[in-house]
Amino acid sequence: MTVPLPSVRLASSSTAAPPPLRPPLSSKERIARNQAKRVQVSRDFRTDTITIPTDELYELMKNASRGDSVYDEDEDTIELEQRIAEMAGKEAALFCVSGTMTNQLAIRTHLHQPPYSVVTDHRAHVHISEAGGIAFHSLATTNAVYPRDGHHMTVEEVLDECVVDDDIHVAPTKLVCVENTLSGMVFPQSELVRLRSALDSFSIPLHCDGARMWEAMAKTGMSLSEACAPFHTVSLCLSKGLGAPVGSILLGPKDFIRRATWFRKQFGGGIRQAGGLALAASVCLDTVLPQLPRTHYLATKLARALAAEGVQLDLPTETNMVWINPEPLGFSMTELQEAARAKAGITLGAPRGRVVVHYQIDERAIDELVEVVRELKAQRTEEARQWEEQVGLEIAEEIRRKSRLYAEGQYDGRIEGPKRSLPAYGKR
Ligand SMILES: *Cc1c(COP(=O)(O)O)cnc(C)c1O
Repeated sequence: MTVPLPSVRLASSSTAAPPPLRPPLSSKERIARNQAKRVQVSRDFRTDTITIPTDELYELMKNASRGDSVYDEDEDTIELEQRIAEMAGKEAALFCVSGTMTNQLAIRTHLHQPPYSVVTDHRAHVHISEAGGIAFHSLATTNAVYPRDGHHMTVEEVLDECVVDDDIHVAPTKLVCVENTLSGMVFPQSELVRLRSALDSFSIPLHCDGARMWEAMAKTGMSLSEACAPFHTVSLCLSKGLGAPVGSILLGPKDFIRRATWFRKQFGGGIRQAGGLALAASVCLDTVLPQLPRTHYLATKLARALAAEGVQLDLPTETNMVWINPEPLGFSMTELQEAARAKAGITLGAPRGRVVVHYQIDERAIDELVEVVRELKAQRTEEARQWEEQVGLEIAEEIRRKSRLYAEGQYDGRIEGPKRSLPAYGKR
């Protein structure tokens, strides 16, 4: 008996494709849109991932290799990994989509059998900005260090948080993570060298979240291999300071990278035709890395000008970040954000007063931001004068006193983690 085949309805050639929701943009419109974006980005101080790929970069990406990098068959990806591993003085490297992925892969690969703990700075990206990844991917608890100087963890502070005995109530420390730069501040290299040798005596490995390691190099003149020397493993962002469209590199010993590649697959992070992205990162290494000193110059210029107006600087500006608090002048970060947008088309992050200078920032935007602060200050000073006249208080004198203080380069306060968290009980 022959079983009749199920009837299949073939799409008739007369069935028209559904109309697009809106007509596609013409090439001319796309070019105009991207040019407008370039201008917008040149006045956007929220972060340094906001930079956009240039036409020249896309032009070069056209000729990238087209192999499958999950099969490890893409020449440009292999070349980028080898190039950075060599620059960093590490055995091997792995190209991934994000810094969150390279950090989490590193942590997952370092840790073998819970229970265990990871020691890190309380402000570290791995601790507060990776969606709880340490607990989720690696089942580890995190012991946070609160550096007394508000700048970096000392060896003693790290060791205080490391658990090295076999008390069954506590989770032994199996990894320490540091971040360089952290909030734009450079971790002193001599302290890192001391830290590595102290941890070696407990066989605790040291990982560096070097998302902005390039900034530390530009600041100190260190080579990548000097900067990476104290660490077993390092992750480096390609989309931050360097301005590549995507990517981060994980560096470490050969066996370690082999195991991390396994986890990358498990995380769903293998990239098939990665060549264009890898080539873009390689080109950015050549063309953007040399531009970082300019971003540091601009950040310093901005910090000085704002301090001279009386804006409080919460942390020292060592690289490309300026941490500002305009409250001594009588207005909040959110008010400054709104005024900067309205008066100068400038984008700022708020309420956290982090101002980040990236390589596509237009110097004029720096000057205009200072001008916006001046205008708001004048407005508030005038309001304060009127109020003083009315109630006879010395608000204006206080503003002048603070202005003098910050103009002298003094800063106070410190970053206390994300503002969105509740105030901690028993805070140290
Ligand atoms: C941006 C950043 C990362 C990684 O972020 P992705 O957006 O996942 O690439 C990691 N660490 C630090 C310190 C960062 O600033």
